[in-house]
Amino acid sequence: MGIDKVSNRTRAGDTNFIIENNARHLWHPMIDPKVSAKNPPVIVSGSDGVHITDVSGKAYLDCTASLWNVNVGHNRPEIKNAIVDQLDKLAYYNTFGNASNPPSIALSALLMEMLEPEDMARVMFSSGGSDAVEGALKLSRQYWKLVGKPEKTKFFSLKNAYHGVHFGGLSVSGGIPWRRAFEPVMPGCFHIDSPNLYRNAWTEDHEELGEICADMLAREIELHGADTVAAFIAEPVQGAGGMIVPPANFWPRVREVCDKFDVLLIADEVVTGFGRTGTMFGSRHWGVKPDIMCLAKGINSGYVPLGATVVNKRIVEAWDKDDPMAPIMHGYTYSGHPLACAAALANLDIVIEENLPANAGAVGSYFLERLGELTRYPTVGDVRGLGLMLAVEFVKDRKTKEPFPAFDPYLMAIQTSCMTANVWVRIQANKMIFSPPLIFENSHVDTAVDAVHAALSQVDV
Ligand SMILES: *Cc1c(COP(=O)(O)O)cnc(C)c1O
Repeated sequence: MGIDKVSNRTRAGDTNFIIENNARHLWHPMIDPKVSAKNPPVIVSGSDGVHITDVSGKAYLDCTASLWNVNVGHNRPEIKNAIVDQLDKLAYYNTFGNASNPPSIALSALLMEMLEPEDMARVMFSSGGSDAVEGALKLSRQYWKLVGKPEKTKFFSLKNAYHGVHFGGLSVSGGIPWRRAFEPVMPGCFHIDSPNLYRNAWTEDHEELGEICADMLAREIELHGADTVAAFIAEPVQGAGGMIVPPANFWPRVREVCDKFDVLLIADEVVTGFGRTGTMFGSRHWGVKPDIMCLAKGINSGYVPLGATVVNKRIVEAWDKDDPMAPIMHGYTYSGHPLACAAALANLDIVIEENLPANAGAVGSYFLERLGELTRYPTVGDVRGLGLMLAVEFVKDRKTKEPFPAFDPYLMAIQTSCMTANVWVRIQANKMIFSPPLIFENSHVDTAVDAVHAALSQVDV
């Protein structure tokens, strides 16, 4: 079959052709291809605001903002126009060494202004969150070499952490299922328990748990020798690992531990950056200034792939001196892609203009309150969240907290019931994840929670 035939039939909206070819040719991320072939994905072909449409014309309320990234909503004319305007001038040119381009310069200036409270001083662009994490890990090792402490190379992170899928990020990620098939991962990476109030071995007291986990980090760093540790990396609120909101004292205590042992603090803000938790950046919620921040997803709401690694003044100063190690031998063909940066400028205008962090906070509180109603169902073990990052955790037994296994038919049936009611939700392991666009309103929350209520009362365990 020639290329003409494929594109013509796809353009003509030949639905059967599209569905058949999905199963025949495409491998999808994060699923066994056999499972995917048996349960074909919904093929999304249109979107507007907080809604998406599939190839059959069915519309859904998008309760996940795709992958927690379409923060300003779908089909925004401001962003489309910015991309087209930029296309007319310069579609793409690189930013390696002796080249640069106006949109990447403008975006770096805007980001530094937004991150002034954190003393951030430089940014390196990339193509996504995994890239942003890789940049953070590599720059922190290079930093220690430049300041004459080349032995500081190890990384600490949290169990349940998700830091993308490149080998460095995978090595600091704490979810075994993400790593097993690709082991061995990078040596020199170690994990401590994440401060999960619902599932931990010690306490139900927020403050005590924050102390215990931060102390654990201190003890592990001491065990290894602080002179061997480069950085601690964590998400301000753990996302893919199960929407784990840490106790309020955890991040401030972690900052103290990092200062005490002279270890860099990297905040992976790929999900929490740009308003999702109710503050412009997640670490601001905890009143903590990281040394390095990883940004992606909400930076331009997914209109064009983009990631960014931001470093503070302290890091930048290490590059002041002449040193054969100073060249930054890292970067991507698409670092500072003009279309991605133009989309980000228009996107961040909307985030600031419409004060979307505040909306995420307000609508998020209402969402959490309404999800609280679900605890009347025996299979709901916990509901939690911060801003518009929320989860419902399903258990077989509320006393033992035994989780439903991933892909359990009960969980799949609940998801199907919601989807049938035109509410797009995502089940991840034993959790239902809510991460809608930050333009969500209370009425959308009602539609979503009502659908989950209906599913839980109709589906038998
Ligand atoms: C999504 C995510 C990443 C990876 O981003 P990609 O754009 O998928 O490479 C990294 N860290 C966190 C916290 C994420 O949620």
